[in-house]
Amino acid sequence: MKFSLSRFPIKTKLTVATLIPLAIGIVFCFLAGIFIVNTKMSGQAQEKAKTDLNVAREALRQELSRVNDVVRFTAALGATAPAIDAGDRTTLATLLGPVRQAEHLDLLTAVDAYGKVVFRAANPLIYGDLQNGDQYVARALKGEVAAGATVIPVSRLALEGGALTQRAKVVAGADTVVAGLFLKVAVPVRAPSGTVVGAMCGGVLLNNNNALLEKIKTAVYEGAGQRKEVGAANLFFGKVRIAGAGPATANYPAGEKLPDEIYRSVLLGDNRTVERTFVSNDWYLTAYDPIRSLQGVPLGALYLGMQESNYSTGRSDLNLLLCAVVFLSLLIGVSVSGVLGSRLARPVKELSMLAKKLAAGERNVQSNIDSRDEIGDLAGSFNEMSRALNEREERIIELNRDLEKKVEQRTAELEENNRLLLQTKEELLRVEKLAAIGELAAGVAHEINNPMAIIRGNTELLQLSIDEDDPNREEVETIFAQVKRVERIVTNLLKFARRERREQGTVQLNGLLKDILAQIGHQESLDGIELEERFSPKVALVSGDSGQLHQVFTNLILNAVQAMPAGGTLTVETLPGLDEETFQVCISDTGVGIPAENVNQIFNPFFTTKTTGTGLGLSVSYGIVKEHGGTIEVTSRPGFGTSFSVILPI
Ligand code: ADP
Ligand code: MG
Repeated sequence: MKFSLSRFPIKTKLTVATLIPLAIGIVFCFLAGIFIVNTKMSGQAQEKAKTDLNVAREALRQELSRVNDVVRFTAALGATAPAIDAGDRTTLATLLGPVRQAEHLDLLTAVDAYGKVVFRAANPLIYGDLQNGDQYVARALKGEVAAGATVIPVSRLALEGGALTQRAKVVAGADTVVAGLFLKVAVPVRAPSGTVVGAMCGGVLLNNNNALLEKIKTAVYEGAGQRKEVGAANLFFGKVRIAGAGPATANYPAGEKLPDEIYRSVLLGDNRTVERTFVSNDWYLTAYDPIRSLQGVPLGALYLGMQESNYSTGRSDLNLLLCAVVFLSLLIGVSVSGVLGSRLARPVKELSMLAKKLAAGERNVQSNIDSRDEIGDLAGSFNEMSRALNEREERIIELNRDLEKKVEQRTAELEENNRLLLQTKEELLRVEKLAAIGELAAGVAHEINNPMAIIRGNTELLQLSIDEDDPNREEVETIFAQVKRVERIVTNLLKFARRERREQGTVQLNGLLKDILAQIGHQESLDGIELEERFSPKVALVSGDSGQLHQVFTNLILNAVQAMPAGGTLTVETLPGLDEETFQVCISDTGVGIPAENVNQIFNPFFTTKTTGTGLGLSVSYGIVKEHGGTIEVTSRPGFGTSFSVILPI
C-alpha cells in the first residue's frame, strides 16, 4: 500500500509538522544537555577523586605521624638514653614493651650508637645484630628523623618478630608476597649532653592491615559526607594487593594484581593516576597514588575506587530533569498543536458541510466564518458562489416561466391555425362537392331544357286558347309562371355550373321576401303556422341576382315550414347589418331544431334527414350566397327551433 500524507486530517498533519522540528530540537537539546552534564560531571568526579586521594594520603601520613609520635616519645623518655648507653635491656623492656602494646606498633626497636640492636620490643629475645645498613637507622644516628615507607625483606622479618612473617604473607597466585611493607620512623636518642647515643625505630606493617585501610576509607568517604560503603581503599605492594577495605563492587579481590598499564604508570612512572573504567555493568572511577620509599622510589600504591554514579548522584537527577523537560515540552507541543489544528480544521469542516448542503439543493447557504486568513477568503468565495448560484437559479426559473407562457401562446396559435385549416379544408370539400353537383345539375338541366321548352310552348298555347274569365285561367297562369321559373333555375344551374357571374341587378329584399311568402302556400301547407314579418323600414336593397336570391330564401323558408309539422311560428326579419355595408335576413322557426352532430353537415350536398328530401337546398343556397360575397350562418337549439341568417353586401 502506498503511503500518502493526503489521507490524514489537517489536525494530524499540523500536529506532526509542529512536532517533528520540536522533537528534533528537543532531542538535540537533550543529547547536548546530557553530554554537557556528563563531561562536566566527569571532570568534577575526577577532581573529586584527586581530592579523595589527598585525603587518603593524609590518613596514611597521619598513621605515620602517629608512629612518629610514639617513637619520639619513647626516644625522649629520660631513662631511654642511659639504658641504651648502658645496654640495660631490662629497663628498655619496661619502657618500650607497654608502649608498643598500647600503640599497636609492629616494630619498636632500640639501637646503640653503632647501629647494633639493644632491644626489640616485638622480639626481645633477638638482639645484638647490626642495623646500621638500614637507611632509617643510619639517618637517625646522624641525628635526623627518618619517616616513610620501607620494605623489610623476608630474611629480616623473622628477626623483627616471629609472627610478622606469617602476618606479612599475601597469597597472589605464583607471586606470593612474604616481604613486609612498613611505615617506619627512626629518631635519634640523645644523651642530656646532646650527643646521639643511639636510635629508636618504630613501624607498622601494612600487609593485611585492613584496619588501617578501613580507617583510610572512612576518612575518605565519610569525611565527604557519604556513606562509607560506597567506595573502597586498597593498598598495593608492587603489583600485589596487600590490604583493602570497602564494598566488593569497588574493591580489588584479595591477592589481585594491578593491571599492567596501571603498574607502569603508577609504580614505574611514579604518577598519580585517575581513571574511568567500565567494569561488568557500570563505570568506575579509580585513583592510584604511588607510595614511595625514603629515597622517593615507588614501592606500592594506594588505591581508591568507587562506582562513578556514586560520585555524581546529581547527574541522574539532572538527567531526570532533562527527561521531564523533554516530556513536558512534547506534551505542551502536542496539546498546543492539537488545539491549533482543531481550530484550523473546524472552519474547513463547516465549509465542507455547507457545500454538501448546497449540493443537496439547499439555497442561499451562507457561512459566517470571519477569520482574516486564507480560510476566511475561502469562506467569502463560498458565500459569493452560493449567492451567484441562487441568482442564476432564480433567473432560470423565470426564463422557464417565460418559456412556458410562450409555448402556451404558440400552442394556442397553432390550435387556431389548425381550426382554420380544418375549416378551410371543410369549405374546400364543400366547394368541390358543389362543383360536382353543379356539373351534375348542369347535365340534368341540359336534359331538362328540351322537355321544358315543349311544356312552355304548350302552356303558351293553353294560355292563348283559354278565355279571360275561365275559372282555370289562374292555374294556367301559375303553371306558366312556374315553368318560366323552372327555366330560370335550369338556366341558373347551367350558368352556375359554368362558373359565370349571375345576372347582376338590384334586389329589393323586403319585396322579394313578400313575394316568396305569398307563393309559399302553393308549395307547402301552412296550417297551424303563424307568420311573423319584421321588415326593416329602411329600404333593403342589395346588388345581386334576384332569381338566385329568391331560390335561397325559398329554400330557407321551406325548410323552416317543414321543421314545424305540428305548427309554430315562422319569423322573417330583415335588418341592416352592424356596419353600413351589409344587410341581414333572418328566417327563424320554432321547429324541431338541428342536433349538434348535424350542424356541420347540413350545407353538404345530399345531406338530408327527410325521406323525400334531396339534400340540395342548403348546399345550393350556400353556393349562391358565397357567390354574392355574403355569409350564411345557423344557430339552433334542438327541440326549440332554428334560425338562419343571411348577410349580404349592399
Ligand atoms: P332537404 O330539405 O331536401 O332535406 P336541405 O339542404 O334543404 O335538404 O336541408 C338539409 C337538412 O337540413 C334537412 O334535411 C334538415 O334535416 C335540416 N334543416 C334544414 N333547415 C332546417 C330547419 N329550419 N329546421 C330543422 N332542420 C333543418
Ligand atoms: Mg330543403
